[in-house]
Amino acid sequence: MFKGFERLGIMKDVKKLQDSDRQNIWHPFTQMYDYETETPLIIERGEGNYLFDIEGKKYLDGISSLWVTVHGHNKKEINDAIKAQVDKVSHSTLLGLSNVPAVEFAEKLLKFVPQNLKKVFYSDSGSTSVEIALKIAFQYWQQGGGNTQKTKFLSFNNAYHGDTIGSVSVGGMDLFHAIYKPLLFSALHANFDNAVSLIEKHHHELAAVIIEPVIQGAAGMLTQPEGFLTKLREACTKHNVLLIVDEVATGFGRTGKMFACEHDKIEPDILCAAKGITGGYLPLAVTLTTQKIYDAFKYKYEELKTFFHGHTYTGNPLACAAGIANLEIFENEKTIEKLQPKITHLTKGLERFKDIPVVADIRQRGFMVGIELMKDVQKKIAYELKEKAGIKVIMNAREKGVILRPLGPVIVLMPPLSLTIEEIDFLLDVTYESIKVVTG
Ligand code: PMP
Repeated sequence: MFKGFERLGIMKDVKKLQDSDRQNIWHPFTQMYDYETETPLIIERGEGNYLFDIEGKKYLDGISSLWVTVHGHNKKEINDAIKAQVDKVSHSTLLGLSNVPAVEFAEKLLKFVPQNLKKVFYSDSGSTSVEIALKIAFQYWQQGGGNTQKTKFLSFNNAYHGDTIGSVSVGGMDLFHAIYKPLLFSALHANFDNAVSLIEKHHHELAAVIIEPVIQGAAGMLTQPEGFLTKLREACTKHNVLLIVDEVATGFGRTGKMFACEHDKIEPDILCAAKGITGGYLPLAVTLTTQKIYDAFKYKYEELKTFFHGHTYTGNPLACAAGIANLEIFENEKTIEKLQPKITHLTKGLERFKDIPVVADIRQRGFMVGIELMKDVQKKIAYELKEKAGIKVIMNAREKGVILRPLGPVIVLMPPLSLTIEEIDFLLDVTYESIKVVTG
C-alpha cells in the first residue's frame, strides 16, 4: 500500500506499474493502439462508492466497476464472509460433490427469484450463464422435452449476451461481433414490434426466446415498451417455446427491483444471472431453471442424457460465501426499499441534461442510465467513430474524479446501489459539466 506522501518513492512505483501494465497486459474491449499512448489509470483500493488509484487519487465509481459493485467496495460483511471461508476451504469441485456455501447460497437465492425457478446451475461469468441456458434449452427439446424439431433461438436486435461463441450467436450487436459471423450458429433476430408474430410463425422450430428484460444494457441502455415482457411470456407459453431472461446486467436491484422480470411479474423458464451476484467481489454466475426442465435430464446413466457441462470453478466456495453475504445485506439493509427515493432523485436530476444541445435521448430504468449524444440532434447527425465523443466525455469526468465508461456515444451511469443522494448529485454534476465542456 502507498502510505503517506513520500512523493519520490511513490512516483517510482507508479511509473513502474504503468510501464509494466502497458508492456504486459492486453486489456479487454480496448484498442491497445490508443491505450499504449495513454497514461494508464491503475486502481489500488476501494472504499464505499469510491476507488483510489496508485497515487491516492479518489474517484467515484460511476459504473460499479463494470456493473458489478452493489453495496460499495470493501464492504465489511462481504470481506468477513470471504475471509472466514478462506480459513475453511477456497475451492472444491462441484462435479459429483458439493460444498457448504454452494448449498446455502442456492437455497437462499431461490427465495429471491420468480418462484417457478427451482434449480441452480453454477458457472463463473455472464457469458457462461447464457451459454449454459442455450445448451440446456436445446438439449431439453432433444430429450425429455420431446420435440427434436425445436433447435433454433429467437433473440433481439441490439441484444448483448456475452462474448463466447454461443452468446455471440444470439447477440445482435454487429459493431462487436460482425467479424465472427462465419463461426456463429444462425438465430432469428426480432425487434419489439415483430417478436410475437415471429414466434407465431416459427414456434415449431424454436427452442427458446432469449431477452435482456426491460432494458438492453450494452446496446446503449435501450428501454423496452412497458408490458412487453408480459406479451412475450404469453406468446412463449401459448406456442410452447422456452423463455430465457438474461438478467446478468439487470439482476440484483439495478432496475429498481431485485430482478427485472418482477416489473411485469413474469416467470421465465430459465434465468441467467452474474455480475452483482457476489456484490461485485468474485466471478460467479447462475443459470436457474424450472423443475420440468431439470427433470428432462434425469435418465439412467447409460442413456447419456446428462448435462455434460461444467467449468472448473463452478460453485466456488469463496464466491458463494460472498453471494450469501450479498443477499444478507439486501435483507438487513433493505437495499431495494432504500433505493426507491434515490431512483426518483436520479430521474429528477437527469431532467436538466435535456438542455444540453448534444443530448439526443436520456434513457433510464432504476440505476441504469444511458445519455445519448448526437453531433446534431435536430438533423439527426451522429458523431463519427473517430470523434470519440463518449471517450472524451468520460476522460474529462475522470479528471474531475468520476470513473465512467461509455458505450459509443452513450454515456452510461450505473452506480452502486449504495450511492447516497449527495453522491448522485456529484455524479450528475460532473457528467453534466463534462458533456458541456467536451461538446460545447
Ligand atoms: N449478458 C448481459 C446482459 C450482459 O450485460 C453481459 C456483460 N455486460 C453479459 C451477458 C456477459 O457477462 P460477462 O462479461 O460476465 O461474461
